Amino acid sequence: MTIPLHGLADHGEGPVSELISRCVHCGLCLPTCPTYALLGVEMDSPRGRIRLMKNVLDGRLEPDAAGYDDHIYKCLDCRACETACPSGVEFGKLVEGARAQIERARPRSAFARAMRWLVFRQLLPHHARLAVLARLGHLSKRLRIGTLVRPLPLGRRLASLLDLVPDRAPSARPLPASVAAHGAVRGRVALFQGCVMRAAFAGTNLATARVLARNGVEVLVPAAQTCCGALHVHAGEPTDARELARRNIASLEALDVDAFIVNAAGCGANLKEYGWLLREDPDWRKRAERFSGLVKDAIEYLAELGLSAIPGSLDATVTYDDPCHLLHGQKVRDQPRALLRAIPGVRFVELGEADWCCGSAGIYNVTQPDLSRQLLHRKVEHIRRTGADLVVTANPGCEMQLAAGLRADGSPASVIHLMDLLERAYGAR
Ligand code: SF4
Ligand code: SF4
Repeated sequence: MTIPLHGLADHGEGPVSELISRCVHCGLCLPTCPTYALLGVEMDSPRGRIRLMKNVLDGRLEPDAAGYDDHIYKCLDCRACETACPSGVEFGKLVEGARAQIERARPRSAFARAMRWLVFRQLLPHHARLAVLARLGHLSKRLRIGTLVRPLPLGRRLASLLDLVPDRAPSARPLPASVAAHGAVRGRVALFQGCVMRAAFAGTNLATARVLARNGVEVLVPAAQTCCGALHVHAGEPTDARELARRNIASLEALDVDAFIVNAAGCGANLKEYGWLLREDPDWRKRAERFSGLVKDAIEYLAELGLSAIPGSLDATVTYDDPCHLLHGQKVRDQPRALLRAIPGVRFVELGEADWCCGSAGIYNVTQPDLSRQLLHRKVEHIRRTGADLVVTANPGCEMQLAAGLRADGSPASVIHLMDLLERAYGAR
């Protein structure tokens, strides 16, 4: 649906009134909202949050009013309410607008400002620094630093962060500039490496390129690309996100490819919305829309293309947890299940509440640790009921969160990205 262009929003960066007015207060979204289920508070439901945004829009509530930011930041931005909504409310855009408005209206403490500067400006856009951090995190985990610091003040928070560090050591080897298609060429794509993916899951990026190549796709891996800005958008920092978007568009738009491939659901949803992010920039809007039109999740692209190479057999019971930004943000539901069923030997079991957030939600597990833990516990319970050996997902944040939950539960099940699983199956041939 095309949104007519107004000013950036009615209140600077705030939620767009036209999107707010689509809500008819029917409440059909309420049973799908994880924070409403946990807290049972109307203002922590999509409908309640929209009402608060409307109050701000109408001047009945200040954007820095006590309590408003709490309801807005307790939202996971999981967008399950968008899937449920019959009126086409695009809740992700609303809550992200509300956060940007809050950040402009409310002075944060010097410490919070310093942390934001460090994370959003000094780390995420700089892959070499993130790579060092990923290696330090892995080393700290191996040395069990989390156990040592947990009893100290602030140590619990650091220990929880280290719990999320993947067991697999980050790869230091850069990907090749291109991976040639096997056999007849069926497509030509550019791989978006991401920031966290590139630093901590470079092996998954390589697996993605190899799986595509095995299916007749030539994969370019452009060196000139940066963080997509998704975490900035979710945290109310759209100005920085726009700058990253412009850099990515300028670096990648001239490539002669069928698609920009992304294997992290959160990044994919954001890359597909560059047109929205830059809607008020006359020099970039059209370029952003063109760019977004070419973005595809690797799963989506591969399922549309169809497997030309048959994977080898894997003897495993497998379940799949939908990343919110793939399911609700990009409406990709059937494709991952079809690819899993295409692997010989795999016994696929549907996961209860697979469409519910695992509590990772960008940096939600850091900013709202208690709610995040409750959601993770609920997810792990569902996984246990499947009896699966492997839990498949398609987003680095979900992968880290689910793995941490299963480890803490003493579960023998492991978590794997769908592209890694496919590569493993091809390796088994
Ligand atoms: S967001 Fe959609 S589903 Fe929820 S109350 Fe509004 S119109 Fe109904
Ligand atoms: S985005 Fe998720 S947590 Fe936020 S209101 Fe919608 S369903 Fe609830």
